Amino acid sequence: MPTKRYALRIFRLFGISVYLHWTWFLAFFVLASLPREYNSVGWNIMEVLALFFIVLLHEFGHQLACRQTGGQTHDIVLWPMGGVAYVSPPPRPGAQLWSIAAGPLVNVILAPLFALVVSFSNHLDWSFSYPNLFTWVHVVYYINITLLVFNMLPIYPLDGGQILRSILWFFLGKANSLRVASLIGFAGACFVVYYAIQHQWLWLGTLMIFVLIQCWQGFKQSGILKSRDQLPRREDCHCPFCKAAPVIGNVWRCPQCHSNLDPFASQGACPGCNIPFNTMQCLECGNRSPLPAWRQAPIPPVISSSP
Ligand SMILES: [Zn+2]
Ligand SMILES: [Zn+2]
Ligand SMILES: [Zn+2]
Repeated sequence: MPTKRYALRIFRLFGISVYLHWTWFLAFFVLASLPREYNSVGWNIMEVLALFFIVLLHEFGHQLACRQTGGQTHDIVLWPMGGVAYVSPPPRPGAQLWSIAAGPLVNVILAPLFALVVSFSNHLDWSFSYPNLFTWVHVVYYINITLLVFNMLPIYPLDGGQILRSILWFFLGKANSLRVASLIGFAGACFVVYYAIQHQWLWLGTLMIFVLIQCWQGFKQSGILKSRDQLPRREDCHCPFCKAAPVIGNVWRCPQCHSNLDPFASQGACPGCNIPFNTMQCLECGNRSPLPAWRQAPIPPVISSSP
């Protein structure tokens, strides 16, 4: 997946920076040079810009909803497969569900607005007076609908697949919901690859290869989560971000000597090579905090569950 390396920062809004990955420029030139119905290339460019503008609004939807749940926002990187906005909401199914659903919700809100402009253009007969603008508003309307439908496919890690996973989380738990969603995603992605090969859609096929890799990683991750669930947890430390207690066991890995360790048992240093860790990563939410912050974090109230 693309990162901020080799990417150009274009602006910053709500504390979130937006980057264009170098591959984005390739996609831009390829898309803008495809033959279209317009009589000037400027409209081709306007169409591609509209596509990425809608993608950007969608990504901001994810980020701002994630922030609302108390999660951390990250920068947005645009690349040929759309936008990448890594969201790390608190590890609760409700927070995950809202952070993911807010992206497609932006497309749902845009759809009637664009439909209004389309009916306006039909009514005023722009096809005669402004034929380029007429085509453009219709195409932009369909781009938004297509993005919405595609993103809502229940194929993990597309938004639809992640929404499915969050809903399953309420019933099956964190590990099993990921297992089921990644298996459904794997089957769905195989079907779409078959479809893409039949229609010779290179872009769709390539995107689905990324999806298949993510499904496989999700499946492996579900196994790790399952085995971690069986471990006991510390009572004196809690993640300052998500309040989760760390497990007791050698499930962290030293970045220097690659040995497995429990940094909470070894007081924040590696027993193998002795390097100290400035921060410890929470395995639940992925955020890093220094050891004293883990100790000071308030202990969440114990909610008694049914026996
Ligand atoms: Zn999305
Ligand atoms: Zn955490
Ligand atoms: Zn080490």
